[in-house]
Amino acid sequence: MSPRLLTLSRFTTTTATTITTKGIHSYRAFSSKLTPSNYAFAFDIDGVLIKGKRTIPEARSAIRMLNGDNALGRKVPFVLLTNGGGVTEQAKAEQISNMLDVQISPEQVVLSHSPMQALVDQYKDKNVLVVGGKDRECFEVAKGYGFNNVIIPDDIHHWQSSVWPFRHPSRDSLSPDADSLDFSKIPIGAVMMFHDSRDWGRDIQIMLDVICSENGVVGTQKGDCTVQEIPIYFSNNDIIWSTEFPVPRLGQGSFKMALESVYKTLTGTNLQSTSYGKPYPTTYAFAEQVLGRINNGKKPSRIYAVGDNPAADIQGANNYGWSSILVRTGVFQEPGNSSHFPATSVCQHVEEAVKWVIQQEEGKNES
Ligand SMILES: [Mg+2]
Repeated sequence: MSPRLLTLSRFTTTTATTITTKGIHSYRAFSSKLTPSNYAFAFDIDGVLIKGKRTIPEARSAIRMLNGDNALGRKVPFVLLTNGGGVTEQAKAEQISNMLDVQISPEQVVLSHSPMQALVDQYKDKNVLVVGGKDRECFEVAKGYGFNNVIIPDDIHHWQSSVWPFRHPSRDSLSPDADSLDFSKIPIGAVMMFHDSRDWGRDIQIMLDVICSENGVVGTQKGDCTVQEIPIYFSNNDIIWSTEFPVPRLGQGSFKMALESVYKTLTGTNLQSTSYGKPYPTTYAFAEQVLGRINNGKKPSRIYAVGDNPAADIQGANNYGWSSILVRTGVFQEPGNSSHFPATSVCQHVEEAVKWVIQQEEGKNES
């Protein structure tokens, strides 16, 4: 089926948030092989390149085409732009490289929490509670970004088991200094959710403990809970996500709703927070900066976002002024285009999307 071109008009790009480059590795190894391109791609991962533990077959040839296996022998810059996370960009690059049998560099991976590196300048020497993820993997991710004083819920739970008396954290999940931490003397300056909570009840409790505390000291309670002093950041707002289970699973956005509901019930006020990830513009600004760097410093004029989720991938790309391509290998199964968030074009799979864009851009049929 031929992709249906709905519109290719460019939108006015919203003002990009200034993003620090701290924690981002050198792009030279990749960019030196690249002739600056006028166009680039941003691929969602789940439902576009892989599905659970399975590789989507057309993904290999699509990425190879962009790595130079095309009629012009030209490399086309691309990033992987996902609301997933909980690991380092390097670990995700290795995982996808192995699954697709193509070379993806860590610099090409934008995870949901990657743009949160912009917060390092503000919080690098403050105590930051980092929530979510497996064991202490998000502790390591945050340290790698440059946050010097990272605290995780397991450390607080280990300090006082009565914080959540229904279970005890595993020793393997604690941060290296956990035994010496006295949280009655440690003011926490911000709460950052990097990935899905593994224990919603415990983590909602501890996040409320921090937000409602006096100066961020757990175990205290400020007099006026209607004024929120501790900022809270979420790495994505996905209500649901898909696994190999036949029915969608609750995501970080659902956790946020639960936290907001309890906070509102207890304080009578709305929880204030900042969210990253798709479809928020800070994430697109970050990805655009990365694409400029790997394109030998030249920001591509046109960026094509390929995704399977209209609400995240397509809405975010459309709002940011990118072209959007919706594929049918993931959550989107409707006939035609998405009724709520129509994409620039709709393709069966990622290979068809890449061929179509190259054909548009180069005036050649790559098949
Ligand atoms: Mg997806």
